[in-house]
Amino acid sequence: EEKLKVLNDCMTDHPDFPKPGIIFKNIMPLFSDPERLALLGEVLEESIRKNFPGCTKLVGLESRGFLMGMAVASRLGVGFVPIRKKGKLPGEVVRQEYTLEYGTDIVEIEKCSLTASDKVVLIDDLIATGGTMKAAVKLIGSTDAALLGALCLIEIDFLKGKEGIENFVSLIHV
Ligand code: 5GP
Repeated sequence: EEKLKVLNDCMTDHPDFPKPGIIFKNIMPLFSDPERLALLGEVLEESIRKNFPGCTKLVGLESRGFLMGMAVASRLGVGFVPIRKKGKLPGEVVRQEYTLEYGTDIVEIEKCSLTASDKVVLIDDLIATGGTMKAAVKLIGSTDAALLGALCLIEIDFLKGKEGIENFVSLIHV
């Protein structure tokens, strides 16, 4: 639709960033212009209201998922909770290890940030292989909260990263 085309057209592609062979999609132009930022909030809000009614908290993945989540949480009247790489969050955390191309990494969420009455939607800017999002799904699974599903603004279709993720929604396909 027209709104998504406006958002898609302002993002820029960067070959060989941050490593050779990767074409990095830069989402920052979505935030630097006030009209595009408002439009982003609008399309995320519409999608979450339609696909995930009853959501009480958005959980964003470090770090561009923070920007996505915060662009829409207050519009929906829901809370926002970050998932961070290990060692960044104080207090008691729940953690999940996951596999990277080389080795493993760990993501964490604050234990006190979600309760049994929460209905969570995961949010990130982009899904590629799906490894990051799958780690987040597992992490929420080891909390008391219910997971409604996951939303990404952009999906790299050929990588099939969404396979195995229940109730996955993406808005722009590349
Ligand atoms: P995956 O785990 O699905 O392979 O990678 C997705 C994660 O990497 C997301 O958290 C996303 O922010 C980041 N990512 C990977 N490629 C890109 C890209 O081209 N542009 C942006 N903005 N983020 C990317």
